[in-house]
Amino acid sequence: MSQIALASVRTHLRVPLRFADGYATTARVFTFDGLVDGREHLAIGLGDRAGTFAPGLHRGSPPLVRPHSECLTGDVFGSERCDCGAQMSQAVKRIADTGGYLLYLRQEGRGIGLYAKLAAYELQDTGLDTYEANLALGFAEDERDYTVAAQMLQALGLPRVALLTNNPDKVAQLTRLGINVTEQVPTGVHLSTANARYLAAKARRGEHTLDLSTGPHEQRPTNGNGTHRSSRLG
Ligand SMILES: [Zn+2]
Repeated sequence: MSQIALASVRTHLRVPLRFADGYATTARVFTFDGLVDGREHLAIGLGDRAGTFAPGLHRGSPPLVRPHSECLTGDVFGSERCDCGAQMSQAVKRIADTGGYLLYLRQEGRGIGLYAKLAAYELQDTGLDTYEANLALGFAEDERDYTVAAQMLQALGLPRVALLTNNPDKVAQLTRLGINVTEQVPTGVHLSTANARYLAAKARRGEHTLDLSTGPHEQRPTNGNGTHRSSRLG
């Protein structure tokens, strides 16, 4: 176990959720004390994890966990410049089926912030891809840091998780931080004409496991043993 600062659960409470498409479920929302960057990150417990919270109680297989980086434009306003909103609602449905957590990480725009992300969009309109635009603005290609995600998992008593992601960097960072990632479960691809260039850049530059060759479709598990069902795209 690598040495990360200990965080603890501050509050947890039930919140009924209803999404724009009518999907409804109940969540248990967790807040924390001791997160290293001082930001207000949330863990959203879904499925059997929306029930009573019993820290350290390990129930069967590791929970399905999705680290989701905040995207105000995509998550709240349904921007079609990225696939964040679709990724988030799909993740909530899958986790509610299986039992697990969505970690809502306040690192907008790959960690560069909302205004800088919109400035990067403006540069992308002149032909740069999403990574080149971040570099042109003086940022790293991807400034996200998953230390707080590892802290939240530790505070929730979850040393072993199945990670719902196409991003190998999330698996690598969490593993370095002492989390045992027992499985990487791929997410669906949400391809549209508006986000095609963005997704192509993610696949090319971020080494995401995305197959964009045949248009919108379902991704297959990369590790072949898929104990979790793949997502169905509507
Ligand atoms: Zn987004």
